[in-house]
Amino acid sequence: MASRKDSQFFEGGRSQNVVNGSRTSHGQWGRAWKADWFSLINIILLLISCPFIVYYFIMSCDQYNCSLSEPAIKLLSGRVHLLDIWDKTPSFTWKALILYTSWVIFQAFLFMIPDFCHKFLPGFKGGVQEGAISPAGVALKYEINGLQAWLITHTLWFANVYYFQWFSPTIIFDNWIPLLWCANILGYSMSIFTWLKACFFPSNAKDCKFTDNFFYDFMMGIELNPRLGKWFDFKLFFNGRPGIVAWTLINLSYAAKQHELYGQVTNSMLLVNVLQGLYVLDFFWNETWYLKTIDIAHEHFGWYLAWGDCVWLPYLYTLQGLYLVYHPVQLATSYAFGILLLGFVGYYVFRMANHQKDLFRHTDGNCKIWGKKPKYIECVYTSASGTKHYSKLLVSGFWGMARHFNYTGDLMGSLAYCLCCGLDHILPYFYILFMAILLVHRCIRDEHRCSNKYGKDWKRYTDAVPYRLFPGIF
Ligand code: NDP
Repeated sequence: MASRKDSQFFEGGRSQNVVNGSRTSHGQWGRAWKADWFSLINIILLLISCPFIVYYFIMSCDQYNCSLSEPAIKLLSGRVHLLDIWDKTPSFTWKALILYTSWVIFQAFLFMIPDFCHKFLPGFKGGVQEGAISPAGVALKYEINGLQAWLITHTLWFANVYYFQWFSPTIIFDNWIPLLWCANILGYSMSIFTWLKACFFPSNAKDCKFTDNFFYDFMMGIELNPRLGKWFDFKLFFNGRPGIVAWTLINLSYAAKQHELYGQVTNSMLLVNVLQGLYVLDFFWNETWYLKTIDIAHEHFGWYLAWGDCVWLPYLYTLQGLYLVYHPVQLATSYAFGILLLGFVGYYVFRMANHQKDLFRHTDGNCKIWGKKPKYIECVYTSASGTKHYSKLLVSGFWGMARHFNYTGDLMGSLAYCLCCGLDHILPYFYILFMAILLVHRCIRDEHRCSNKYGKDWKRYTDAVPYRLFPGIF
């Protein structure tokens, strides 16, 4: 079993690491070592409520035409019992299990084959790439082949729709709830497996974090980078596939269902497919950059990522398309163009803000941001061993407008997806609400970490750039 002694030794260890071109220390990284009571209560509440939230949303669509209030009112007034809803819920089927298992095995197979896209796609950074250095000083190598997996999967999807016709393109929608049970089986099995793995055969014991609290460890994960063999990286696999590759297929299946039911695909459904498709493609095009983001560099792999990627992401990130199957909305052309513009501007801000920081850190400030030499704040910080290090915080471009303008762009794009569904129901707006909570919480967590790391230099930065997400507001 990976001992606590091992992990604690490395918390106070002496090695200095390089992340995104700047050195940083053990003590400043990743999640907390101890779970306070507030976090613990939140975690238990999330463990209980999240599966129920997913079930409630999906059942609201299946039985109540996507009305969130109707089942709640009927349940509270006693006109309907939970058991009635449960009885009407499509149950687990072997067909769904075979479909889901084949899907996961196919994605795992694609995950293991070397990348060829980087050999012929100019500007694409794929193949073997190095991730961020972990607190224990390990820099893992990753085979970046998500774009290839996405292209192969979607080529086969369209080949099936237009040529082979082995299965109906509505197959995902038609099995949506039986598939939910399968996704849960995988999500929970992976959470339990990775918890056991961290305890008994971790890939790197020195990057494990135990908190003495089972619930916290189970949810937030113990191992930083669990792997099977040299290449099967759980975090990279579950973060990107099967959930994100499936995202665009799920939307295509919804579009096909709309066509089957109403004889046409509405412009709102097209917009959802285009805008979310762009976001998904961006994710795979920039998968190498993604290795240095918080999800891969700092989060440990537990229920939060395993169950979240298997269930929460595919079921709740795709609510707009699901809603549009039940409520086909044909938007006025000017309104549709307005949404498209909002979505593209949001995407541009999101991508450029991330690119500016990446370029700045990559070149150590020797670059141009918006045509000029960038302004920055020099920071000094001390590692656990007491050694001084230097880093830079960009205050030009989007990073001079707000401290997390990349999140602002993401939120604009998220709002655009929701607006595609019109204003009749609240259900499709869950995504923007969730993203706002997720990103504001993440922003506060990240700033807390940066403030600990950079001390008075972080204060200079927050004085120079006083707003977090929306200049002049927050
Ligand atoms: P960021 O890419 O914003 O990274 C934050 C880190 O960047 C900080 O910890 C700090 O690290 C460094 N930093 C902060 N300010 C500056 C600055 N002014 N100049 C240079 N470096 C700075 O965070 P995420 O990894 O959370 O997000 C990446 C993207 O992914 C975002 O666009 C976000 O919207 C998106 N995202 C999407 C999600 C979804 O579910 N759709 C979920 C989560 C994220 P250091 O210690 O190196 O200084």
